[in-house]
Amino acid sequence: MLSVNNVGWMEKEKPVAGPLDAILRPVAVAPCSSDTHTSHGGSGDQKNLILGHEAIGEVVEVGELVTRFKPGDIVVVPCCTPDWLATDLQSNKYNAHDHGLMASFKFLLSKDGVFAEFFHVNQADANLVKLPEGMDMAAALMTVDMMSTGFFGVEQAEVEFGDTVVVIGIGPVGLMAVAGAHLKGAGRLIAVGTRPNSVAVAKEFGATDIISYKDGDIVEQILKLTNGKGVDRVIVAGGKTDTINQALQLLRPGGIVSNMNFFDATETFEIPAWDWGLGMSNKDIRGGFCPGGARRIEKMLEMIQYNRFDPAKLITHRFDGFDKIEDAFKLMDEKPADLIKPAVFI
Ligand code: NDP
Ligand code: ZN
Repeated sequence: MLSVNNVGWMEKEKPVAGPLDAILRPVAVAPCSSDTHTSHGGSGDQKNLILGHEAIGEVVEVGELVTRFKPGDIVVVPCCTPDWLATDLQSNKYNAHDHGLMASFKFLLSKDGVFAEFFHVNQADANLVKLPEGMDMAAALMTVDMMSTGFFGVEQAEVEFGDTVVVIGIGPVGLMAVAGAHLKGAGRLIAVGTRPNSVAVAKEFGATDIISYKDGDIVEQILKLTNGKGVDRVIVAGGKTDTINQALQLLRPGGIVSNMNFFDATETFEIPAWDWGLGMSNKDIRGGFCPGGARRIEKMLEMIQYNRFDPAKLITHRFDGFDKIEDAFKLMDEKPADLIKPAVFI
C-alpha cells in the first residue's frame, strides 16, 4: 500500500528478529477483505505499508531465545500474533489492547504484513505452529484468519444445541461461521448471501435455508420463515452498519448479535430504542476480533486432521508464484461473482 487507493511493489529493508522473534519467507499467502479495506483507507491514512496477514511461511532466521523453531521449518502463522507479555491478556481472553485497539493484530495495524520476500513474527514460540506432516497447505492457510475469525463469530455468539442461527453474509468469513455454527450444533441455520459459489459451499457447510438480501428485506423474509418467532443468534459477516439493526429486529429476547464486520472509522450506528427492546430485551450486541496465538491454530489444524470439515473449499482461485500476489489482491478487491477466496502458492 503506497498510499490510500494506491497499491504496488516497494523496496524495504529486510526485517530484523528480536531475541524472541522469527523472520519468515512466505510459501503460501491469501489476501483478505481487511487488506483491501485497509488499502482504501478503512484503517486511516496509512502509507508505505506492506499488506497481507494470512500466511504459511518458511523460517529463515530465529532470535537467540526461540526454542521451538529453526531455519527451514514450515510454519502456520496466525493473523493475530499477540504480545503475550501484555498485561491486558491476563484479564481479557481475546485480545491485548494495552497498546491500543486490536493491538494483537500486528500485521497491517502496527507493522508490515506478509506480502513480502521476508516478514517478521513477534514471539515465535508462542505464535507459530509447525505445519503438520501431510496437511494440505491450502486448508492450513484457511485456518489463520478465515477459520479463526468465522469460528470466533460462533464462539462470541455462544451458539447452543438446537439454536436457530442466522449468518448474514457468506463470503469466506461468513462461510466459516456457517461451518462453525453447524459444528456447534445449530438447529436451523439460515445463511444470507447471493454469490452462487458461496451459496453452494454454505449448503455444504450446513446451512438449512438461504436468503437473498436482493429479494427484499431480510427481516421480513426471515420472520416469515420462522413464523414470526425470530432467531436465537445472528452472526454478522457482511452488510453495513444498518445490518446490526436488522440483526436486532430478527433476534428473540435473550439472543446475541455477534459482529465480525470491519466497519469504517467514518461510520455511525443508529439504533432505534424499539429495535433494542427499549433497552429491556436482554439482547446482546457483541463485536470482537479473533484471538491469536499458536494454541488456537493448533486446535483448528486438528479439526482438519480429524476430518471435521475442509476449509480449503473456500479457495476458488489459485495462483502460483510470488509475483502473482498482486493479481490475487486485485481479484479480492474486485470480488467477481465467482470468487470466494484466492490463494497464492510460492
Ligand atoms: P465478502 O465481501 O467476501 O462477503 C460479504 C458477504 O456479505 C457476501 O455474502 C455478500 O453477499 C453479503 N452482503 C453484502 N451486502 C449485504 C447486505 N446488504 N445484506 C446482507 N448481506 C450482504 O467479505 P468477507 O467474508 O471477506 O469479510 C466479511 C467481513 O468481515 C468484512 O467486513 C471484513 O472486513 C471482515 N473481516 C473481519 C475479520 C475479523 O477478524 N474481525 C477478519 C477478516 C474479515 P453476496 O453473496 O451477494 O456477495
Ligand atoms: Zn483478515
